[in-house]
Amino acid sequence: MAKYVYFFGSGKAEGRADMKDLLGGKGANLAEMTNIGLPVPAGFTITTEVCTYYYAHNKTYPPELKTEVQEAMRKTETAMGAKFGDPKNPLLVSCRSGARVSMPGMMDTVLNIGLNEATLRGLIDKTGNERFAWDSYRRFVQMYGDVVLGLKPQSKHEIDPFEHIMDELKHAKKVRLDTELTTDDLKELVRRFKKAVKERTGKDFPEDAYEQMWGAIGAVFGSWMNDRAIVYRRQYGFPHEWGTAANICSMVFGNMGDDCCTGVAFTRDPATGEKVFYGEYLINAQGEDVVAGIRTPKKIAELQKDMPQVYKQLDEIRNILEKHYRDVQDIEFTVQKGKLWMLQTRNGKRTGFAAVRFAVDMVQEGLISKEEALSASRIPPDDLNQLLQPIFDPEAKRKAVAEGKLLAKGINAGPGAATGRIKFHAEDAETWVHKHRGTADGHVILVRRETSPEDIRGMQAADGILTAFGGASSHAALVSRQMGKVCIVGCGTLNIDYAKGIVTVGNQVLKDGDWISIDGFTGEVIAGQLATKPSEVVQVLIDKTLKPEQSKVYQQFAELMKWADQYRKLGIRTNADLPGQASQAVAFGAGGIGLCRTEHMFFDHIEPMREMILAQTPEARKQALEKLLPFQRQDFEGLFKAMNGLPVTIRTLDPPLHEFLPHDAKGQQEVAKKLGVEAQVIADRVKALHEFNPMLGFRGCRLGIVYPEITQMQCRAIFEAACNVHKAGVKVEPEIMIPLVGFLPELKEQAKIVHEAAKTVFAEKGVSVPYLVGTMIELPRACAVADQIGKEAQFFSFGTNDLTQTTLGMSRDDYGSFIRYYMEHDIVTRDPFQTIDTDGVGGLMRMGVEKGRSARPDLKIGICGEHGGDPDTVKFCHKIGLNYVSCSPFRVPIARLAAAQAALQK
Ligand code: PEP
Ligand code: MG
Repeated sequence: MAKYVYFFGSGKAEGRADMKDLLGGKGANLAEMTNIGLPVPAGFTITTEVCTYYYAHNKTYPPELKTEVQEAMRKTETAMGAKFGDPKNPLLVSCRSGARVSMPGMMDTVLNIGLNEATLRGLIDKTGNERFAWDSYRRFVQMYGDVVLGLKPQSKHEIDPFEHIMDELKHAKKVRLDTELTTDDLKELVRRFKKAVKERTGKDFPEDAYEQMWGAIGAVFGSWMNDRAIVYRRQYGFPHEWGTAANICSMVFGNMGDDCCTGVAFTRDPATGEKVFYGEYLINAQGEDVVAGIRTPKKIAELQKDMPQVYKQLDEIRNILEKHYRDVQDIEFTVQKGKLWMLQTRNGKRTGFAAVRFAVDMVQEGLISKEEALSASRIPPDDLNQLLQPIFDPEAKRKAVAEGKLLAKGINAGPGAATGRIKFHAEDAETWVHKHRGTADGHVILVRRETSPEDIRGMQAADGILTAFGGASSHAALVSRQMGKVCIVGCGTLNIDYAKGIVTVGNQVLKDGDWISIDGFTGEVIAGQLATKPSEVVQVLIDKTLKPEQSKVYQQFAELMKWADQYRKLGIRTNADLPGQASQAVAFGAGGIGLCRTEHMFFDHIEPMREMILAQTPEARKQALEKLLPFQRQDFEGLFKAMNGLPVTIRTLDPPLHEFLPHDAKGQQEVAKKLGVEAQVIADRVKALHEFNPMLGFRGCRLGIVYPEITQMQCRAIFEAACNVHKAGVKVEPEIMIPLVGFLPELKEQAKIVHEAAKTVFAEKGVSVPYLVGTMIELPRACAVADQIGKEAQFFSFGTNDLTQTTLGMSRDDYGSFIRYYMEHDIVTRDPFQTIDTDGVGGLMRMGVEKGRSARPDLKIGICGEHGGDPDTVKFCHKIGLNYVSCSPFRVPIARLAAAQAALQK
């Protein structure tokens, strides 16, 4: 038979810390603290299974629950030496929610249950403190009325009837603080509160202690499905099926006099990670007073003076808890008449900085192993971002938000904090930064409806990119991440008028040159200039403006990364097109380039590129390509040198050609002038290249197949560069990758061109270098025929951006309009362009791996879509046996950690 109730008290508990799924985090830890001999007020936990049952059975309880609860209550009474509902010696209890993960503030709590006119007398006699007893009673009626009887306002426009009554009375009595109310005032308050309950609900306030308790239990289970809790779970991806436990705990009071207090603390500083006891407390107060912020609490260190004995005991408990849980704890405690009681412990929430410091310090203290230090529950890989990206000064940001400067919220596509002057055009951004570089004014946020490859230089110049449209793998997002730029996309409330040079949000208007700040961690867009702090890790590794020994943050980061590398099995590469990006990635620990998108190079040499596209004959095209060759060769030489012997995967041209052409008349006229042709010729060519679905059109290997001279030129450039760099004494290992292959003959034709180019160039140069020819796997068909393709391809790289859009039939550029709705309605749990859809796209990847290796058992397989830097995707890639993941430079450390976690996962 199922057991629904678990007792804890008098040094023994039926539950344990590892029973969080059943008892919730709070219940499991109350049990555990009891078992290790810490002073915990007795009580019991009603399991999460009861919550699940409650929802599955029309909000009713299992029949056997009542008896189990009564039995546990009897044990609680014995342990505490008092009786629930007894007028002479009353026991009061609290009822608290507690899911298996903490959901701070999302669900309900009721304190002081068991108080009524009769037990109130008993409480007064027992404590000799009439005011305290009445204050507890008025708090109870208020809380119970709000939480259980539904008097709590549902919107910010409604007023809380209890607060209203309280304000009225305080006003009449000419007092400001609750503590200034007399016992008679409190009695009057209770009377008025009860009257309000009767008026609102038509029923008297419940007097019976058990009725009160069952009401509270129902409210706690009910709060599992309140809006806030649902939204919270959705945000963090926790299933609604988990349910919450309900904890009934004996009340202890921190508000019985000056030998009482209540407080919250962390065993170490959760912001910086420093090993100091960190927390606060209030003398003569209840827990809610600390949280409500009406009185300013004292720092925990002061307790040493106020209550030396208690402080000593608490500090000992701090050590016991850390040793026992092997992690930093977040605790709640109450001191009742000089006796310390522990009300809660849980693993403390922490910043990325603290997470790394806790982990590294605890290994060095011998408290935990390196394996434990690396675990995802201690350091969620994404939190490393905080150590890499500039951040806003939290105080400055809070102030700006309070002043109403928060303009909008979009998709947080590139983490970090950036502040700069608004520029709406890439060229303007570039010109501005060029002119003001090195001054306080030299910072720009490029604000656009969306970006295109033409905007690259402006993006490079800008500190941050903000777009009104697009999703997490839009052009703006992926380029920003690759560049390590702060980026917010899909910020639909921005109304950008390029012609007027203004952006409007509601009734606020910002113009070109105004300051704006964007928080790429949260997606918040804030008007004005906010102070930022640079990351020390970047100063050491990238800017080289700080020495490693000057930065503790860096040292600990480096130590953690070293451990991650010891455990991970996956290789980590980077997506980089420029030598600077490549060097950054290597500094962050990348072991090669997994994707060099060669088209980005063409945008730097747009004129011959356009000439090539506009050519009418193969000869004319070849001539234009001749002009491009030296540029490409030079670019590849730079990359090979920067990578210094590490593998470099270079992809042949992929995007639809029209992306390189101007679409407006003015731009077309300019090109026509430069090329010495009629503007109409350009306009006609642009028209001819128009496609309804360019993503499914004339792109990828289709370009190199129809125009083989493009692939020929690119391969010549690659091999010439490789030979030159090889001759200069640097090891080179190019891997040439053919995009968007769906049919084996496509790959065969392109591979033939690659091999021919290699042969010719090696003969000309008198040297040869090792190289591979492989393919991107980014179409469902490629997965289905991976056994055929695997015979020809020497490596695979999953292009999951395209594989996602072609598998889901969702355009990566257009899914922004509905994906939020989908997530809010639980149709999809995660953004499929950020985290791999493991069932669908992931299923095809598994097939691709299996079939590919059936043809070539040692086939090297990687991933180079945007997903490659997402921790959950990294773990999935480990699981299906990929050899490496490739991601943008700033995500390399995150991927290293995620890969180690994947390898350590049981
Ligand atoms: C992909 O499709 O995942 C990929 C890496 O290629 P691109 O984003 O350039 O289409
Ligand atoms: Mg692709």
